[in-house]
Amino acid sequence: MRRIYLDHNATTPLAPEAREAMGPYLGECYGNPSSVHTFGSRLRLALEEARARVGLLLGADPLDLVFTSGGTEADSAAILGVCAARPDRRHLVATRVEHPAVIEPLRTLERRGYRVTWLEVDAGGRLDPTQVEEALRGDTVLVTAMYANNETGVLFPVDAIGEVCRRRGVSLHVDCVQAAGREALRLAGRPIDSAAVSGHKVHGPKGTGVLYLRRGLPWEPLIRGGHQERGRRGGTENVAALVGLGVAAGLALGDLEAERERVRALRDRLEEGILEAFEDVQVNGDRRARLCNTSNVSFRRLEGEAILLSLDRLGVCVSTGAACQAGNTDPSHVLAAMGVPSTAIHGSVRFSLGRDTTEGDIDTTLDRLREVVGRLMRLAPVFPAEEVPGATKEVRA
Ligand code: PLP
Repeated sequence: MRRIYLDHNATTPLAPEAREAMGPYLGECYGNPSSVHTFGSRLRLALEEARARVGLLLGADPLDLVFTSGGTEADSAAILGVCAARPDRRHLVATRVEHPAVIEPLRTLERRGYRVTWLEVDAGGRLDPTQVEEALRGDTVLVTAMYANNETGVLFPVDAIGEVCRRRGVSLHVDCVQAAGREALRLAGRPIDSAAVSGHKVHGPKGTGVLYLRRGLPWEPLIRGGHQERGRRGGTENVAALVGLGVAAGLALGDLEAERERVRALRDRLEEGILEAFEDVQVNGDRRARLCNTSNVSFRRLEGEAILLSLDRLGVCVSTGAACQAGNTDPSHVLAAMGVPSTAIHGSVRFSLGRDTTEGDIDTTLDRLREVVGRLMRLAPVFPAEEVPGATKEVRA
């Protein structure tokens, strides 16, 4: 049975070209990139080539990129590093729907006496940038807003937010983990001061990431203890993995526009198929300003977890929200912030498509869904049918 993988927001398969490029650096090319001799300099060259490739994908000067162990580290390093550099300012602004990689360092800062203003989103998961202006204070050090939401795919108006921040002398951090490789980021030309990217979401290896820091940004390193990454992150670089990330970035850039349209068409085919096949469903999140690959759907009378497990048995892999919440049945904080009723939150399933998804996969998924949802409805409709204001009809328009 060929498994159908529709969980690309959790992780993407490593590109075979990236795996192949990594090989020598797991074997004969074993130097330390900081060594001056031939072994070291070969590795340094490979590392800088990888950085240049990532720079092209992100639209950023490679010198402004710091390699990290992933998106989580890049988010923490940006947030804590900007606060450390401007200790007189003790207020931050963030949206309620950020990933835990952003929420948790902010909670740490709150425990240290910082104040955080949490911005609300509307029923479509959208953020109104005028809220940012209203939230800023004289001692605001940083605003943090994600480029695209990992659960719904909804895009935030980061340029408008950045303009407000520029005017008021406040830094803007953007978590670009879900947007990299799916949107043309062009970081250098935008009012963004720092950004986080994850390697394993762009068909690179797990445990790799990138922190973008605008030149001149007041910032202090999180990890010290070495001169690596131009003094911005201590520790010997994971050269093999970063070479793989460089190759993956090159591939993503090469077919970004074409892939975006192809994947968007497949996602829309899946979503339309679901809306036609089932009655008690709703799409969560604004359907227009959204990542091309993501669809978050609530089957209002069922448990998302039951759908996930039944689909998995039939060879289709999906998720019920953020992957890091797997095994945790707390309702999604993203859908809750959007005001999605709890029955619909419990019935939510996230489909996230990728480079390997085919039209056949979508049609098979729809067949399997009909089978699974039909059976679950006959067995035990856990929730009574309920009228949800503003659900399917409005969203479909
Ligand atoms: N930010 C967002 C929006 C994410 O979706 C994720 C991972 O799911 C992360 C950060 C963390 O990235 P990593 O897994 O590379 O630490």
